Amino acid sequence: MAQWINTGCSLPQFRPDKAVPLRIGRRNALVHNAETLAHVGLIARRGPDSFRSRGMPEEPGTTLVTISGDVAQPGVVEVDRGTPLLDIVARSAPVAAIGAMLVGGYGGTWVGPQDFATPYASFSLRTIGASAGVGVIVALGAAACVVAESARIAHYMARQSSGQCGPCVYGLPAIAADLTRLAQGRTDTELMPRLVRRLDQVDGRGACRHPDGVVGMVRSALRVFASDVSAHEQGAPCPHWNTPRLALPGDDRGPRRP
Ligand code: SF4
Repeated sequence: MAQWINTGCSLPQFRPDKAVPLRIGRRNALVHNAETLAHVGLIARRGPDSFRSRGMPEEPGTTLVTISGDVAQPGVVEVDRGTPLLDIVARSAPVAAIGAMLVGGYGGTWVGPQDFATPYASFSLRTIGASAGVGVIVALGAAACVVAESARIAHYMARQSSGQCGPCVYGLPAIAADLTRLAQGRTDTELMPRLVRRLDQVDGRGACRHPDGVVGMVRSALRVFASDVSAHEQGAPCPHWNTPRLALPGDDRGPRRP
């Protein structure tokens, strides 16, 4: 946004030294989202004790979470920091038993049922390799295929590249294509080593964090749902490939309900 205001060009800017303040014109710029500023306003009006009466001692207050996926009531909910992941998703009325959550949005981390009780707070999410990211949780029913959904997300994210950086422009479609082959069971002995190598080649090499988010999302799918990945590696095609569960922006098919 600062780049757009400064130059009229809305492309991410490579900033090797993030400690150098962002500037708009000659002035330093401070960028916060509306949720943070709303908290600041409420703390100023009601005092810090009111804010600290909610959430956890380590991370007080409430936070906004956007919930989508296999739920009847997708939308934004306000929860205390530290609320277990499954309790947050329950606010949106899941339409099926949840088998996976993508925490942090499409550039986030897949979480399996063994970690659904994790408190939604930075320090506890870190212990399972996740973060709140953009404040989005995508819930996936147990019958869905994380590999197939990850492939579709990777294709979508590849289309969102701004087209400036080679590793992002060429790497993300290649990663998405490898995941698609894996989900469809069209594997060979080179597929997984090639996918892992491509993830390493793209990681940290864009001007912005867009490709890093995709790399993290794919790595978490391979790690957390290793048994599903193994079945696909042995040639089992995804039975749900043509019936995707997650709605992606611009995808007019939308999620299919059971
Ligand atoms: S990493 Fe991708 S999205 Fe980010 S600036 Fe480079 S090409 Fe654009």
